Amino acid sequence: MSARAGLLFRVLDHVSRRQSKFTFYPVEASLPMGVGMIGDAFRSRFETGRRRILENDWDELSQNIAVQEFFPFLAETRKRINVDVIVGLFAPMLAYTIDNGDNTLSLEWNYFSVGEGREVAISSYGIREYASKAGRPFEAAIAMMTMAQVWSSIYNVGFHEETRGCPFDFCENRDDLVGAIKRMELCAQSLEAIPANERDSVLKCLEAIRDYCR
Ligand SMILES: [Zn+2]
Repeated sequence: MSARAGLLFRVLDHVSRRQSKFTFYPVEASLPMGVGMIGDAFRSRFETGRRRILENDWDELSQNIAVQEFFPFLAETRKRINVDVIVGLFAPMLAYTIDNGDNTLSLEWNYFSVGEGREVAISSYGIREYASKAGRPFEAAIAMMTMAQVWSSIYNVGFHEETRGCPFDFCENRDDLVGAIKRMELCAQSLEAIPANERDSVLKCLEAIRDYCR
């Protein structure tokens, strides 16, 4: 959604050719206007939950989309084109709600990527600047973020709080993503979390992204 990443398929083609486990297909889809917008309607709905959001949080929140609203659409598209995982690329940051199970909702926001089942969302917000600081092409950074969330989806690999220059760095401090884009290597813990017979393909994907140049 409004994300420009024309060269992304160049790097993903490069990744597809370097191993046989993961193949990427571009899908162009149009969405109904207004889906996922965080405006007054979102706000009034959320404020029925009990967690308070401070007044100055709303400025930052307006740079986010409510990503869950897109997942049914992504799921439907994924089934129609018959792929294992579908990835939506978005220009804003990603916000989502968590049902606490006691009639309250928590809201998370400023995310780079979010996965729900086989549906994945990636945000390109700020990534040009981070990629440039890391000395890698923008599309290589997006490809790394995409792969991490795809692996999280299919292998159930978690993101870790510690910043290790690993694609699975959680990056509570968003600027930490620069280190992951720069180093782009799995830490021992994340590699261990990937099924043994899949590790070779996963490592080849990352190697292909690191090798990629325009
Ligand atoms: Zn890691």
